[in-house]
Amino acid sequence: MDDRLENDSLNGKLGDLLAKSIEHKRVSAEVTSFEEFLNLSRSEPWITRNSTQLLHDMMLSRGVEHSMVAGKPVRHTYRFFEEKEMVGPYIVFGQQKAKENMIEKIHNASRGLEANKRLWILLGPPGSAKSRSMDGIKLALNTYSKSDEGKTFFLLLPTVDERLKEKALFTENDIYYLPAPLFETPLLVIPPSIREEFAAELTESIDKQIIGDWLDKHPHYDNTYKVKIDGMISPYADYVLNDFMRAKDLDFRGLIPYLKVKRMIFDARTKTGIGSYTPRDEKSQEAGSLVGNIDYSLLPRFGSESHPLVHDYKGELCAGANGFVEIHEILKLSDKFLYELLFATQDRFFKPEGQAPIPFNGVIIGHTNFHEFNMFMGNPSFEALRSRTTFIEMPLSVDYKQEEQIYAFTYSNETRDWHKEKKHQSHIAPHSLAFLSLVVVMSRLYESKTNENLSLLQKALVYAGRADSGVDNNMAKMVLEEFDYVKPSEGTFGLDPRFIQNVVEYTEHFQISEYAANINRLKEETGDHALLTSVALQNPCVTPLDLHVHLENALKDRYAIDKTKLRHYVEKITPLAKSWIFGQVASDVYSAILRDDSVIETTWKKYTDHVRAFAHSTKVKHDVTQMDVQPDEKFMQAIEQYLGVPDREVFRKELSDAIASVKFSVLLSDEPSYQNAIKKYVFENEFKASENMKLLGWIKSGTSAANVNVKEQEHLNETIKYLIDMKGYCGKCAFQALSITANAASIIT
Ligand SMILES: [Zn+2]
Repeated sequence: MDDRLENDSLNGKLGDLLAKSIEHKRVSAEVTSFEEFLNLSRSEPWITRNSTQLLHDMMLSRGVEHSMVAGKPVRHTYRFFEEKEMVGPYIVFGQQKAKENMIEKIHNASRGLEANKRLWILLGPPGSAKSRSMDGIKLALNTYSKSDEGKTFFLLLPTVDERLKEKALFTENDIYYLPAPLFETPLLVIPPSIREEFAAELTESIDKQIIGDWLDKHPHYDNTYKVKIDGMISPYADYVLNDFMRAKDLDFRGLIPYLKVKRMIFDARTKTGIGSYTPRDEKSQEAGSLVGNIDYSLLPRFGSESHPLVHDYKGELCAGANGFVEIHEILKLSDKFLYELLFATQDRFFKPEGQAPIPFNGVIIGHTNFHEFNMFMGNPSFEALRSRTTFIEMPLSVDYKQEEQIYAFTYSNETRDWHKEKKHQSHIAPHSLAFLSLVVVMSRLYESKTNENLSLLQKALVYAGRADSGVDNNMAKMVLEEFDYVKPSEGTFGLDPRFIQNVVEYTEHFQISEYAANINRLKEETGDHALLTSVALQNPCVTPLDLHVHLENALKDRYAIDKTKLRHYVEKITPLAKSWIFGQVASDVYSAILRDDSVIETTWKKYTDHVRAFAHSTKVKHDVTQMDVQPDEKFMQAIEQYLGVPDREVFRKELSDAIASVKFSVLLSDEPSYQNAIKKYVFENEFKASENMKLLGWIKSGTSAANVNVKEQEHLNETIKYLIDMKGYCGKCAFQALSITANAASIIT
């Protein structure tokens, strides 16, 4: 290879990236003396945090948003779970309660409270982001510990014991340095009898300015940072250090100059500070993979199985003893194992066969599904375990806007960098992902018992906070409260995101193939194809209509033997979601045809004027004569029909109150459902006879382009262009939107 070329290619961006990777390597190789560590803790005091404090700080490092709604609990949104820089691809949307519980657990662990002594288990159906949230935490720990703000160290043990030579990281002055097997934080080496004073002394020596600035950014410390030394070192580390002091004839003070520390970089793949256990079937469960094994190669050297140096410290609890342990499908574990975990959290020890107890200073979070949960709750032999276990419910989302974020994260046109030249990737039409999200969310809801007229669609819209559900505020409040204490909770049954992901991917694959086939056919038929065909055939596209077809097939396939469920999904839920989504599509088309939005605002103003007059029993000025007249009941009712108002009087009263404090135009722009309703009213009532209807009628009848005059063609082009430029459509879905609108029942005149 040309040398010059190689050098050039390593300048600039690539070179920067390599430099960054080298820097990471350097950081992870960073070794310093224990004395230097103590010095450093004056200028970078956060390096003395224990691993649970570190974990907690990390999860709060991206901030918390509080939102207050009168009469409801304050909502906290921890940005951590939604930050790509922290959790990489493992972003978790929604799940506010579960996130709060997890952070509470870690907060309590960092303070050593009682709640930390329970075994914490995430409980949710498949697809509810249990593993995902754990993967996010594990990845973030790696990133955070590489950064300056997440800087932390673990202990290296000096030894002159030749039998341990091969385990050494390096040798210095004939002393071998071994990594402490539990990645013990350096301060754990301080003997318990002097810890309190030692910590106080260290706290006193911290640079006041630096810690002040740091505390400003870490408000959860309440403006006090105290060095704390909690937990124990492993019997292994204890043995090695004592043995070294004996060999060199040192006391603890004399030991200090020999101690070293190494930068801690958490890494799940190398089991550094992070353990992760998945039980296999009950028979082959093996304690060793959890608590570690006897290292038989060392047995001859140390003579006894109970010798602390014979234990290999390779179990998952060892890996995360000063960090984080995740246990997959935790309730598949036998009771013996579950008790082992319980001891680790409750008594802060676990005990391998024949060995001294090993201290555990980390956080354990397990997860499980409802099937295992029900078996656990029904099994009398787990009686004692139940009271020591805390379950964190992690249901699937019942807010379709949140659910849509999950799919948009993978499939949105932005994340996939879609453009119309791509022929092997589909455009995702507007409302496509919303359609699927609405269907899955509806599948996770109960029918309301107190209000039989309420449809699952209306419930889903209320849960997403939409005002166009056709449900008034009081009823919406009741709907939100009705299911708070019903078990199993909504969201613990129904369709899971993986099913939907399969549908999207299959539909896309199908659309791409169909597109290629159509193009080939056209090429064979004629070179010059008609205008409409050419716009609609620029690229493959996944539309709500396509998804509806494939979703229905997938449901029929999956629920062939469960006819009740199948009927519920295919006959009840899917059609409701489809017609509502088609309404949204039609609304885009109305905007495209009307284009001038001012008529919508004037109509809205007129309506609110009449409503206010109605509510206050006053009069309004007539449009033309400017005479004082009664509010126009017929006009208001016509609008309300489009708004889907259940109780006119209540709605008018509420709206009139709202208008008193918020400007009518703000109210309109804040509420898409009002815009949609007014748009539809204007379109169908004031433009009915105009050429817009002719246009839609023409699309509906499928008249060929040859019979259409130039003016209509232009109008059509402009409408499609508006949909593409302003509303995120491509040629194919824009044309489909027009025919959906044209075919909608309300257009038939
Ligand atoms: Zn499209």
